Amino acid sequence: MFKKVLIANRGEIALRIIRACKELGIKTVSIHSTVDADSLHVRFSDESYCIGPAESSKSYLNIPAIISTAEVSNADAIHPGYGFLAENPDFAEICENCNIKFIGPPSGQVRAFGNKAKAKSLMEKFGVPIIRGYHGDGDPKKNAQKLAAEIGYPLLIKAAAGGGGRGMRIARNQKEFEDYLQVVRTEAELAFGNGEVYFEKYLQNPKHIEIQVLCDEYGNGVHLGERECSIQRRHQKLLEEAPCSILNDSLRKKMGAAAVNALKSNGYKNAGTVEFLLDENGDFFFIEVNTRIQVEHPITEQVTGIDLIKEQIKIAAGEKLQFTQDDIKIKGHSIQCRVNAEHPETFVPSPGKITSLNIPGGPGVRVDTGIYGGYQVLPFYDSLIAKLIVYEKDRPAAIAKLRWALEEFHVGGIHTSIPFHLKVINHPQFLSGNYNTGFLDSNF
Ligand code: ADP
Repeated sequence: MFKKVLIANRGEIALRIIRACKELGIKTVSIHSTVDADSLHVRFSDESYCIGPAESSKSYLNIPAIISTAEVSNADAIHPGYGFLAENPDFAEICENCNIKFIGPPSGQVRAFGNKAKAKSLMEKFGVPIIRGYHGDGDPKKNAQKLAAEIGYPLLIKAAAGGGGRGMRIARNQKEFEDYLQVVRTEAELAFGNGEVYFEKYLQNPKHIEIQVLCDEYGNGVHLGERECSIQRRHQKLLEEAPCSILNDSLRKKMGAAAVNALKSNGYKNAGTVEFLLDENGDFFFIEVNTRIQVEHPITEQVTGIDLIKEQIKIAAGEKLQFTQDDIKIKGHSIQCRVNAEHPETFVPSPGKITSLNIPGGPGVRVDTGIYGGYQVLPFYDSLIAKLIVYEKDRPAAIAKLRWALEEFHVGGIHTSIPFHLKVINHPQFLSGNYNTGFLDSNF
Protein backbone atom coordinates (compact mmCIF):
# COMPACT_ATOMS: atom_id res chain seq x y z
CA MET A 1 0.00 0.00 0.00
CA PHE A 2 1.07 3.60 -0.58
CA LYS A 3 2.69 5.51 2.27
CA LYS A 4 1.73 8.98 1.09
CA VAL A 5 -0.78 10.25 -1.48
CA LEU A 6 -0.87 13.75 -2.97
CA ILE A 7 -4.37 14.99 -3.76
CA ALA A 8 -4.30 17.16 -6.89
CA ASN A 9 -7.65 18.81 -6.27
CA ARG A 10 -9.65 21.05 -3.92
CA GLY A 11 -13.10 21.28 -2.32
CA GLU A 12 -15.31 18.38 -1.30
CA ILE A 13 -13.55 15.76 -3.45
CA ALA A 14 -10.12 16.58 -1.98
CA LEU A 15 -11.55 16.16 1.52
CA ARG A 16 -13.33 12.95 0.49
CA ILE A 17 -10.01 11.48 -0.73
CA ILE A 18 -8.14 12.63 2.40
CA ARG A 19 -10.70 10.80 4.57
CA ALA A 20 -10.38 7.60 2.53
CA CYS A 21 -6.57 7.78 2.86
CA LYS A 22 -6.84 8.20 6.63
CA GLU A 23 -8.99 5.09 6.86
CA LEU A 24 -6.39 3.18 4.86
CA GLY A 25 -3.53 4.45 7.04
CA ILE A 26 -2.01 6.60 4.27
CA LYS A 27 -0.45 10.03 4.88
CA THR A 28 -1.87 12.86 2.75
CA VAL A 29 -0.38 15.85 0.96
CA SER A 30 -2.72 18.57 -0.23
CA ILE A 31 -2.00 21.38 -2.64
CA HIS A 32 -3.73 24.73 -2.73
CA SER A 33 -3.83 28.06 -4.50
CA THR A 34 -3.12 31.25 -2.53
CA VAL A 35 -6.85 31.96 -2.09
CA ASP A 36 -7.58 28.42 -0.84
CA ALA A 37 -5.23 28.57 2.16
CA ASP A 38 -8.16 28.43 4.62
CA SER A 39 -9.82 25.41 3.00
CA LEU A 40 -10.71 22.23 4.85
CA HIS A 41 -8.64 20.05 2.52
CA VAL A 42 -5.62 22.09 3.62
CA ARG A 43 -6.53 21.87 7.29
CA PHE A 44 -7.18 18.12 7.37
CA SER A 45 -4.30 16.84 5.26
CA ASP A 46 -0.99 15.92 6.90
CA GLU A 47 1.00 18.36 4.76
CA SER A 48 -0.04 21.16 2.45
CA TYR A 49 1.76 23.22 -0.15
CA CYS A 50 0.76 26.42 -1.91
CA ILE A 51 1.39 25.84 -5.61
CA GLY A 52 0.25 29.05 -7.25
CA PRO A 53 -2.23 31.91 -7.52
CA ALA A 54 -6.03 31.72 -7.78
CA GLU A 55 -6.23 31.01 -11.53
CA SER A 56 -6.51 27.25 -12.05
CA SER A 57 -4.11 27.38 -14.99
CA LYS A 58 -1.38 28.53 -12.62
CA SER A 59 -2.25 26.30 -9.65
CA TYR A 60 -4.53 23.24 -9.87
CA LEU A 61 -3.58 22.74 -13.54
CA ASN A 62 0.09 23.55 -13.03
CA ILE A 63 1.68 20.17 -13.80
CA PRO A 64 5.33 21.09 -13.05
CA ALA A 65 4.35 22.58 -9.66
CA ILE A 66 2.25 19.53 -8.76
CA ILE A 67 4.88 16.99 -9.79
CA SER A 68 7.65 18.82 -7.92
CA THR A 69 5.44 19.01 -4.83
CA ALA A 70 4.91 15.24 -5.03
CA GLU A 71 8.65 14.73 -5.34
CA VAL A 72 9.61 17.13 -2.56
CA SER A 73 7.04 15.62 -0.19
CA ASN A 74 7.93 12.03 -1.15
CA ALA A 75 4.39 11.13 -2.21
CA ASP A 76 4.24 7.76 -3.95
CA ALA A 77 0.90 8.38 -5.67
CA ILE A 78 -1.37 11.19 -6.89
CA HIS A 79 -5.16 11.12 -6.77
CA PRO A 80 -6.53 13.64 -9.30
CA GLY A 81 -10.18 13.65 -8.12
CA TYR A 82 -12.52 14.88 -10.87
CA GLY A 83 -12.16 17.93 -13.12
CA PHE A 84 -8.79 19.74 -13.33
CA LEU A 85 -6.16 17.15 -14.43
CA ALA A 86 -8.25 14.01 -13.84
CA GLU A 87 -8.69 13.25 -17.55
CA ASN A 88 -5.48 14.78 -18.87
CA PRO A 89 -3.49 11.92 -20.48
CA ASP A 90 -0.27 13.96 -20.47
CA PHE A 91 -0.51 14.40 -16.72
CA ALA A 92 -1.11 10.67 -16.21
CA GLU A 93 1.86 9.92 -18.46
CA ILE A 94 4.16 12.37 -16.66
CA CYS A 95 3.21 10.70 -13.35
CA GLU A 96 4.11 7.32 -14.87
CA ASN A 97 7.44 8.63 -16.15
CA CYS A 98 8.26 10.12 -12.75
CA ASN A 99 7.45 6.87 -10.95
CA ILE A 100 4.51 8.41 -9.14
CA LYS A 101 1.43 6.20 -9.34
CA PHE A 102 -1.50 7.96 -10.98
CA ILE A 103 -4.64 6.78 -9.16
CA GLY A 104 -6.71 6.13 -12.24
CA PRO A 105 -6.33 4.16 -15.45
CA PRO A 106 -3.06 4.04 -17.44
CA SER A 107 -2.41 7.16 -19.55
CA GLY A 108 -3.10 5.15 -22.73
CA GLN A 109 -6.68 4.52 -21.57
CA VAL A 110 -7.22 8.16 -20.57
CA ARG A 111 -6.02 9.13 -24.05
CA ALA A 112 -8.07 6.49 -25.90
CA PHE A 113 -11.35 7.47 -24.27
CA GLY A 114 -10.56 11.20 -24.13
CA ASN A 115 -11.37 11.49 -27.82
CA LYS A 116 -15.11 10.81 -27.86
CA ALA A 117 -15.25 10.15 -31.60
CA LYS A 118 -12.51 7.52 -31.35
CA ALA A 119 -14.09 6.11 -28.17
CA LYS A 120 -17.26 5.44 -30.18
CA SER A 121 -15.33 3.46 -32.79
CA LEU A 122 -13.57 1.55 -30.02
CA MET A 123 -16.82 0.64 -28.27
CA GLU A 124 -18.40 -0.37 -31.54
CA LYS A 125 -15.54 -2.82 -31.99
CA PHE A 126 -16.45 -4.40 -28.65
CA GLY A 127 -20.07 -4.83 -29.71
CA VAL A 128 -21.49 -1.97 -27.62
CA PRO A 129 -24.46 -0.26 -29.34
CA ILE A 130 -23.59 3.27 -30.45
CA ILE A 131 -25.76 6.10 -31.76
CA ARG A 132 -25.74 6.27 -35.56
CA GLY A 133 -23.51 8.98 -36.83
CA TYR A 134 -20.16 9.85 -38.30
CA HIS A 135 -17.05 9.75 -36.20
CA GLY A 136 -14.42 9.09 -38.81
CA ASP A 137 -12.97 10.58 -41.95
CA GLY A 138 -14.70 12.16 -44.90
CA ASP A 139 -16.40 15.42 -45.70
CA PRO A 140 -18.76 16.16 -42.78
CA LYS A 141 -21.21 18.12 -44.96
CA LYS A 142 -21.63 15.24 -47.41
CA ASN A 143 -21.78 12.71 -44.59
CA ALA A 144 -24.47 14.75 -42.85
CA GLN A 145 -26.51 14.82 -46.05
CA LYS A 146 -26.13 11.06 -46.42
CA LEU A 147 -27.02 10.35 -42.80
CA ALA A 148 -29.97 12.76 -42.84
CA ALA A 149 -31.30 11.03 -45.96
CA GLU A 150 -31.35 7.76 -44.01
CA ILE A 151 -32.47 8.84 -40.53
CA GLY A 152 -33.49 12.48 -40.87
CA TYR A 153 -32.65 15.50 -38.73
CA PRO A 154 -32.02 16.61 -36.02
CA LEU A 155 -28.34 15.74 -35.79
CA LEU A 156 -26.13 16.62 -32.87
CA ILE A 157 -22.69 18.08 -33.63
CA LYS A 158 -20.25 17.35 -30.82
CA ALA A 159 -16.65 18.21 -29.96
CA ALA A 160 -14.44 15.10 -29.89
CA ALA A 161 -12.57 16.51 -26.91
CA GLY A 162 -15.76 17.87 -25.31
CA GLY A 163 -16.79 17.59 -21.68
CA GLY A 164 -18.95 19.20 -19.01
CA GLY A 165 -21.85 19.50 -21.43
CA ARG A 166 -19.97 22.02 -23.58
CA GLY A 167 -19.28 21.87 -27.30
CA MET A 168 -22.61 20.56 -28.61
CA ARG A 169 -25.13 21.99 -31.10
CA ILE A 170 -28.38 20.54 -32.42
CA ALA A 171 -28.81 20.96 -36.19
CA ARG A 172 -32.40 20.64 -37.43
CA ASN A 173 -31.61 20.88 -41.17
CA GLN A 174 -28.68 20.96 -43.58
CA LYS A 175 -28.38 24.76 -43.42
CA GLU A 176 -28.13 24.67 -39.61
CA PHE A 177 -25.68 21.80 -39.87
CA GLU A 178 -23.37 23.80 -42.09
CA ASP A 179 -23.67 26.90 -39.91
CA TYR A 180 -23.09 25.07 -36.63
CA LEU A 181 -20.26 22.89 -37.88
CA GLN A 182 -17.89 25.84 -37.87
CA VAL A 183 -19.32 27.19 -34.61
CA VAL A 184 -18.67 23.91 -32.77
CA ARG A 185 -15.20 23.65 -34.35
CA THR A 186 -14.27 27.14 -33.22
CA GLU A 187 -15.73 26.68 -29.73
CA ALA A 188 -13.98 23.33 -29.36
CA GLU A 189 -10.67 24.81 -30.44
CA LEU A 190 -11.03 27.60 -27.88
CA ALA A 191 -12.34 25.47 -25.00
CA PHE A 192 -10.40 22.23 -25.46
CA GLY A 193 -7.53 23.16 -27.77
CA ASN A 194 -8.84 20.62 -30.28
CA GLY A 195 -11.30 21.56 -33.01
CA GLU A 196 -12.14 17.97 -34.03
CA VAL A 197 -15.88 17.37 -34.24
CA TYR A 198 -18.21 14.42 -34.93
CA PHE A 199 -21.94 14.12 -35.21
CA GLU A 200 -24.72 11.69 -34.53
CA LYS A 201 -28.48 11.30 -34.42
CA TYR A 202 -30.02 13.59 -31.79
CA LEU A 203 -32.22 11.37 -29.63
CA GLN A 204 -35.49 12.94 -28.49
CA ASN A 205 -35.70 13.01 -24.71
CA PRO A 206 -33.65 9.97 -23.75
CA LYS A 207 -32.70 8.97 -20.22
CA HIS A 208 -29.05 9.35 -19.23
CA ILE A 209 -28.01 6.09 -17.60
CA GLU A 210 -24.42 5.35 -16.65
CA ILE A 211 -22.73 2.21 -15.37
CA GLN A 212 -20.02 2.29 -12.70
CA VAL A 213 -17.20 -0.15 -13.42
CA LEU A 214 -14.20 -1.25 -11.35
CA CYS A 215 -11.31 -3.16 -12.92
CA ASP A 216 -8.18 -4.30 -11.09
CA GLU A 217 -4.72 -4.74 -12.58
CA TYR A 218 -5.17 -8.52 -13.05
CA GLY A 219 -7.99 -8.52 -15.59
CA ASN A 220 -10.85 -8.75 -13.07
CA GLY A 221 -13.75 -6.37 -13.48
CA VAL A 222 -17.23 -5.80 -12.06
CA HIS A 223 -20.00 -3.28 -12.55
CA LEU A 224 -21.79 -1.67 -9.63
CA GLY A 225 -25.10 -1.02 -11.30
CA GLU A 226 -26.39 2.19 -12.81
CA ARG A 227 -26.95 5.83 -11.97
CA GLU A 228 -29.76 7.80 -13.56
CA CYS A 229 -28.57 11.34 -14.35
CA SER A 230 -31.36 12.78 -16.53
CA ILE A 231 -32.00 15.90 -14.47
CA GLN A 232 -29.69 18.17 -16.45
CA ARG A 233 -29.38 21.79 -17.38
CA ARG A 234 -27.47 22.50 -20.59
CA HIS A 235 -26.31 18.86 -20.59
CA GLN A 236 -24.93 19.22 -17.06
CA LYS A 237 -26.15 16.98 -14.27
CA LEU A 238 -27.89 18.50 -11.26
CA LEU A 239 -29.51 15.56 -9.46
CA GLU A 240 -28.73 11.85 -9.73
CA GLU A 241 -30.33 8.70 -8.38
CA ALA A 242 -29.57 4.98 -8.08
CA PRO A 243 -31.06 2.68 -9.07
CA CYS A 244 -33.02 3.98 -12.08
CA SER A 245 -36.68 3.43 -11.27
CA ILE A 246 -37.72 2.18 -14.71
CA LEU A 247 -34.81 -0.15 -15.43
CA ASN A 248 -35.70 -3.83 -15.15
CA ASP A 249 -33.22 -6.47 -14.07
CA SER A 250 -32.67 -7.90 -17.52
CA LEU A 251 -31.84 -4.50 -19.05
CA ARG A 252 -29.63 -3.67 -16.05
CA LYS A 253 -27.68 -6.90 -16.61
CA LYS A 254 -27.37 -6.21 -20.33
CA MET A 255 -26.09 -2.65 -19.87
CA GLY A 256 -23.78 -3.69 -17.03
CA ALA A 257 -22.30 -6.53 -19.06
CA ALA A 258 -21.81 -4.29 -22.12
CA ALA A 259 -19.95 -1.73 -19.99
CA VAL A 260 -17.72 -4.06 -18.01
CA ASN A 261 -16.88 -6.34 -20.95
CA ALA A 262 -15.88 -3.43 -23.17
CA LEU A 263 -13.60 -1.89 -20.54
CA LYS A 264 -12.08 -5.26 -19.64
CA SER A 265 -11.47 -6.11 -23.31
CA ASN A 266 -9.65 -2.80 -23.71
CA GLY A 267 -7.36 -3.57 -20.78
CA TYR A 268 -8.90 -0.88 -18.60
CA LYS A 269 -7.77 -0.52 -14.99
CA ASN A 270 -9.26 1.31 -11.98
CA ALA A 271 -12.68 3.02 -11.74
CA GLY A 272 -14.48 4.09 -14.90
CA THR A 273 -17.98 5.03 -15.94
CA VAL A 274 -19.64 4.07 -19.18
CA GLU A 275 -22.37 6.54 -20.10
CA PHE A 276 -25.40 5.55 -22.17
CA LEU A 277 -28.56 7.15 -23.47
CA LEU A 278 -31.68 5.00 -23.15
CA ASP A 279 -34.52 5.68 -25.59
CA GLU A 280 -38.26 5.15 -25.19
CA ASN A 281 -38.06 1.69 -26.80
CA GLY A 282 -35.65 0.50 -24.13
CA ASP A 283 -32.68 0.58 -26.54
CA PHE A 284 -29.44 1.90 -25.10
CA PHE A 285 -26.54 3.60 -26.85
CA PHE A 286 -23.01 4.41 -25.70
CA ILE A 287 -22.03 8.10 -25.44
CA GLU A 288 -18.76 8.23 -23.54
CA VAL A 289 -16.41 6.74 -20.96
CA ASN A 290 -15.33 8.86 -18.00
CA THR A 291 -11.90 7.64 -16.94
CA ARG A 292 -12.09 9.04 -13.41
CA ILE A 293 -14.18 9.13 -10.26
CA GLN A 294 -17.41 11.04 -10.87
CA VAL A 295 -19.17 13.74 -8.87
CA GLU A 296 -22.16 11.41 -8.45
CA HIS A 297 -20.16 8.39 -7.17
CA PRO A 298 -21.66 8.54 -3.63
CA ILE A 299 -25.09 7.22 -4.69
CA THR A 300 -23.42 4.03 -5.96
CA GLU A 301 -21.54 3.76 -2.67
CA GLN A 302 -24.81 4.04 -0.76
CA VAL A 303 -26.64 1.29 -2.67
CA THR A 304 -23.69 -1.13 -2.91
CA GLY A 305 -21.88 -0.47 0.38
CA ILE A 306 -18.60 -0.20 -1.56
CA ASP A 307 -16.26 2.77 -0.98
CA LEU A 308 -15.21 3.71 -4.51
CA ILE A 309 -12.33 5.99 -3.51
CA LYS A 310 -10.78 3.31 -1.31
CA GLU A 311 -11.22 0.82 -4.16
CA GLN A 312 -9.46 3.21 -6.55
CA ILE A 313 -6.53 3.53 -4.15
CA LYS A 314 -6.34 -0.22 -3.47
CA ILE A 315 -6.47 -1.07 -7.18
CA ALA A 316 -3.73 1.48 -7.95
CA ALA A 317 -1.61 -0.02 -5.16
CA GLY A 318 -1.84 -3.40 -6.91
CA GLU A 319 -4.50 -5.10 -4.79
CA LYS A 320 -6.92 -7.54 -6.35
CA LEU A 321 -10.67 -6.87 -6.28
CA GLN A 322 -12.05 -8.62 -3.22
CA PHE A 323 -15.48 -9.26 -4.75
CA THR A 324 -16.96 -10.78 -7.88
CA GLN A 325 -20.04 -9.73 -9.86
CA ASP A 326 -22.20 -12.13 -7.81
CA ASP A 327 -21.16 -10.39 -4.59
CA ILE A 328 -22.49 -7.00 -5.79
CA LYS A 329 -26.00 -6.46 -4.47
CA ILE A 330 -27.96 -3.28 -5.10
CA LYS A 331 -29.96 -2.47 -1.97
CA GLY A 332 -32.24 0.49 -1.24
CA HIS A 333 -32.35 3.82 -3.04
CA SER A 334 -30.07 6.85 -3.06
CA ILE A 335 -30.45 10.37 -4.47
CA GLN A 336 -27.84 13.13 -4.72
CA CYS A 337 -28.51 16.84 -5.14
CA ARG A 338 -25.67 19.06 -6.29
CA VAL A 339 -25.81 22.17 -4.13
CA ASN A 340 -24.31 24.91 -6.27
CA ALA A 341 -23.55 28.47 -5.27
CA GLU A 342 -25.87 29.94 -7.87
CA HIS A 343 -29.24 31.60 -8.16
CA PRO A 344 -31.94 28.87 -8.13
CA GLU A 345 -33.85 30.42 -11.04
CA THR A 346 -31.29 32.17 -13.22
CA PHE A 347 -28.41 29.78 -12.39
CA VAL A 348 -26.09 32.81 -12.25
CA PRO A 349 -23.09 32.04 -9.99
CA SER A 350 -23.34 33.48 -6.48
CA PRO A 351 -19.91 33.59 -4.84
CA GLY A 352 -19.43 35.31 -1.47
CA LYS A 353 -19.13 34.75 2.25
CA ILE A 354 -21.27 32.10 3.95
CA THR A 355 -22.65 34.03 6.89
CA SER A 356 -24.60 31.19 8.52
CA LEU A 357 -24.86 27.49 7.86
CA ASN A 358 -27.02 24.56 8.88
CA ILE A 359 -26.14 21.17 7.42
CA PRO A 360 -28.76 18.41 7.78
CA GLY A 361 -27.80 15.04 9.26
CA GLY A 362 -29.11 11.84 10.81
CA PRO A 363 -29.38 8.27 9.52
CA GLY A 364 -29.21 8.04 5.74
CA VAL A 365 -28.23 11.68 5.25
CA ARG A 366 -24.72 12.29 3.90
CA VAL A 367 -23.28 15.68 3.01
CA ASP A 368 -19.96 15.80 1.14
CA THR A 369 -18.72 19.36 1.32
CA GLY A 370 -15.76 21.62 1.96
CA ILE A 371 -17.73 24.61 3.28
CA TYR A 372 -18.17 25.92 6.84
CA GLY A 373 -19.67 29.00 8.51
CA GLY A 374 -17.60 32.04 7.46
CA TYR A 375 -16.23 30.23 4.40
CA GLN A 376 -15.71 32.38 1.33
CA VAL A 377 -17.13 30.81 -1.86
CA LEU A 378 -14.62 31.84 -4.52
CA PRO A 379 -15.50 33.01 -8.03
CA PHE A 380 -12.49 31.25 -9.56
CA TYR A 381 -13.71 27.66 -9.37
CA ASP A 382 -16.68 25.39 -10.01
CA SER A 383 -19.85 26.50 -8.21
CA LEU A 384 -20.46 23.10 -6.55
CA ILE A 385 -20.26 23.69 -2.79
CA ALA A 386 -21.90 20.56 -1.37
CA LYS A 387 -23.50 17.27 -2.31
CA LEU A 388 -26.54 16.22 -0.33
CA ILE A 389 -26.95 12.45 -0.56
CA VAL A 390 -29.82 10.52 1.00
CA TYR A 391 -30.23 6.78 1.37
CA GLU A 392 -33.42 4.90 2.20
CA LYS A 393 -35.05 1.52 1.69
CA ASP A 394 -36.93 2.59 -1.44
CA ARG A 395 -37.48 5.59 -3.74
CA PRO A 396 -40.54 7.14 -2.00
CA ALA A 397 -38.77 6.95 1.37
CA ALA A 398 -35.60 8.48 -0.14
CA ILE A 399 -37.62 11.37 -1.60
CA ALA A 400 -39.38 11.95 1.73
CA LYS A 401 -36.00 12.12 3.47
CA LEU A 402 -34.54 14.37 0.80
CA ARG A 403 -37.46 16.81 1.20
CA TRP A 404 -36.81 17.59 4.86
CA ALA A 405 -33.04 17.44 4.38
CA LEU A 406 -33.28 20.14 1.67
CA GLU A 407 -35.62 22.19 3.88
CA GLU A 408 -33.18 21.99 6.80
CA PHE A 409 -30.14 22.77 4.61
CA HIS A 410 -29.49 26.48 5.12
CA VAL A 411 -26.64 28.43 3.55
CA GLY A 412 -26.77 32.13 4.49
CA GLY A 413 -25.17 35.01 2.59
CA ILE A 414 -25.23 33.48 -0.90
CA HIS A 415 -27.80 31.97 -3.27
CA THR A 416 -27.83 28.21 -3.74
CA SER A 417 -29.64 25.67 -5.89
CA ILE A 418 -31.49 24.22 -2.85
CA PRO A 419 -34.89 25.81 -3.74
CA PHE A 420 -34.49 24.49 -7.30
CA HIS A 421 -34.01 20.92 -6.01
CA LEU A 422 -37.12 21.21 -3.84
CA LYS A 423 -39.14 22.15 -6.92
CA VAL A 424 -37.74 19.21 -8.86
CA ILE A 425 -38.43 16.59 -6.22
CA ASN A 426 -41.98 17.84 -5.68
CA HIS A 427 -42.81 17.69 -9.39
CA PRO A 428 -45.32 14.92 -10.35
CA GLN A 429 -43.18 13.79 -13.27
CA PHE A 430 -40.11 13.39 -11.07
CA LEU A 431 -42.22 11.61 -8.47
CA SER A 432 -43.42 9.17 -11.14
CA GLY A 433 -39.82 8.29 -12.02
CA ASN A 434 -40.79 8.58 -15.66
CA TYR A 435 -38.68 11.59 -16.63
CA ASN A 436 -35.89 12.18 -19.15
CA THR A 437 -33.21 14.69 -20.15
CA GLY A 438 -35.94 17.02 -21.46
CA PHE A 439 -37.42 17.40 -17.94
CA LEU A 440 -35.97 20.80 -17.16
CA ASP A 441 -36.69 22.39 -20.53
CA SER A 442 -40.31 21.27 -20.53
CA ASN A 443 -41.10 22.05 -16.88
CA PHE A 444 -39.00 25.03 -15.74
P1 ADP B 1 -20.19 15.72 -21.91
O1 ADP B 1 -18.96 14.89 -21.99
O2 ADP B 1 -19.97 17.13 -22.34
O3 ADP B 1 -20.89 15.59 -20.62
P2 ADP B 1 -21.94 13.75 -23.18
O4 ADP B 1 -21.63 13.16 -24.49
O5 ADP B 1 -21.66 12.94 -21.97
O6 ADP B 1 -21.17 15.16 -23.06
O7 ADP B 1 -23.45 14.21 -23.17
C1 ADP B 1 -24.01 14.99 -22.13
C2 ADP B 1 -25.50 15.04 -22.28
O8 ADP B 1 -25.87 15.56 -23.55
C3 ADP B 1 -26.19 13.69 -22.23
O9 ADP B 1 -26.42 13.25 -20.91
C4 ADP B 1 -27.49 14.00 -22.97
O10 ADP B 1 -28.40 14.68 -22.16
C5 ADP B 1 -27.02 14.94 -24.05
N1 ADP B 1 -26.70 14.18 -25.30
C6 ADP B 1 -25.49 13.76 -25.71
N2 ADP B 1 -25.57 13.10 -26.89
C7 ADP B 1 -26.87 13.11 -27.24
C8 ADP B 1 -27.62 12.60 -28.37
N3 ADP B 1 -27.04 11.96 -29.37
N4 ADP B 1 -28.96 12.78 -28.37
C9 ADP B 1 -29.58 13.44 -27.37
N5 ADP B 1 -28.94 13.94 -26.30
C10 ADP B 1 -27.60 13.79 -26.22
